[in-house]
Amino acid sequence: MPTDFSALPQQLLADLQAARPVFWGNPDRSDAATVSTVVDGRGISLADVKAARARFDRFAPLLARLFPELQGSAGRIESDLLPAPAMQQALGLPSSAGALWIKADHSLPVAGSIKARGGIHEVLEFAESLALEYGLVTHDADYAVLAEAPARALFGRYQVAVGSTGNLGLSIGVMASALGFRAAVHMSADAKAWKKARLRARGVAVVEHTGDYAAAVAAGRREADADPYSYFVDDERSLSLMLGYSAAALHLHDQLAQADVRVDATHPLFVYLPCGVGGAPAGIAFGLRQLYGPNVHPVFVEPTQSPCFLVEMLAPGASVYDVGLTNRTEADGLAVPQASELAAQAMRPLLAGVCTVADDTLFADLHRVREAEGLRIEPSAAAGFSGPGMLTGTEAGRAYLTQHHLDGAMAHATQLVWTTGGLFVPPEEYARFAEHGAALAA
Ligand SMILES: *Cc1c(COP(=O)(O)O)cnc(C)c1O
Repeated sequence: MPTDFSALPQQLLADLQAARPVFWGNPDRSDAATVSTVVDGRGISLADVKAARARFDRFAPLLARLFPELQGSAGRIESDLLPAPAMQQALGLPSSAGALWIKADHSLPVAGSIKARGGIHEVLEFAESLALEYGLVTHDADYAVLAEAPARALFGRYQVAVGSTGNLGLSIGVMASALGFRAAVHMSADAKAWKKARLRARGVAVVEHTGDYAAAVAAGRREADADPYSYFVDDERSLSLMLGYSAAALHLHDQLAQADVRVDATHPLFVYLPCGVGGAPAGIAFGLRQLYGPNVHPVFVEPTQSPCFLVEMLAPGASVYDVGLTNRTEADGLAVPQASELAAQAMRPLLAGVCTVADDTLFADLHRVREAEGLRIEPSAAAGFSGPGMLTGTEAGRAYLTQHHLDGAMAHATQLVWTTGGLFVPPEEYARFAEHGAALAA
């Protein structure tokens, strides 16, 4: 069925189709103190966010045992919160727009991207459900026993499968294989060669598909559905993934408090989240809303050729192809043609807005953050840096601020950019990104 876009604001549609960067303020955003969130008919709340964190906590001793890089953090997979005054200056963002901070998920251990939160959570939840069912652990047991032979024999009977452009496959493949599952990652043609190689080196079966990301997911789902011992992680409809991401909010809440950063009605918190299908940013935005209520303003950032979440908000069910875009971008973590309906449902009343960014800007910002802050990130992870300028420098962004009575609060705002990946990008590939970015930023 062809989608009818005639009811949309015509300038916005024209900008989208011409791949010009836009800011879109969400007209359905609610500033109510509490908003109930229902996804797929199930209400979710702060209790679910805390349950996800408690699951990570139960597994921490096991993870410290399985991954040498987690010994220093006692099995916690977390990232730093960094002030970014030099990057703020490099972006030309005045102090009247607030203070720039970075949530450094590009350095998350084990997976090297934000997918360490959602992907690993879902694998742990599946492993835990099996271990409980077979009586290998109870909730208050020491989960380090899951590194022993009986658990490994049990897990080895099952396959964990996923369809992925790369980073989700990395997180799920690496964790599933470390626990003793058979792991299969279905990848699209545009997935990077080094990601495939890294997975194969860990004993993960990489299945390559010629189509795009959605095609790889569909093929993986079909194959897993036919096998009762196969568990398929469904990026487009997984609540476990979303809740895994949401747990990040609890840690960030502690970090902001520790850094003496206030969040209230006169100190708004803007969070810029690179968006692919929307599960990661929606999970985090949902978690933050449970803690900060209407004082948190999540903005999703998408490539100009792959704004699937914005398209979904404007015309539910439509893809970026329906608008006439190519879904071609160097930001491979964000190259998604169709958004998760689950994430869109959850975000309808919570999301502040969506903005889009050109690939050239991603590379320029990748270069700037290396120069300014010494951080090494991948192109997808640079998406958030254009957010503060789009919010404060576009008519639509300023209209959002006025509508939500934020004009007088901006000097005390926190502008938090979430850098979502980069740790495992090979040095040669990173050098190419940085060189390209330096030429564009000059
Ligand atoms: C997957 C990914 C995202 C976005 O997550 P979604 O759940 O697909 O929206 C952002 N940045 C990077 C680096 C990613 O790999």
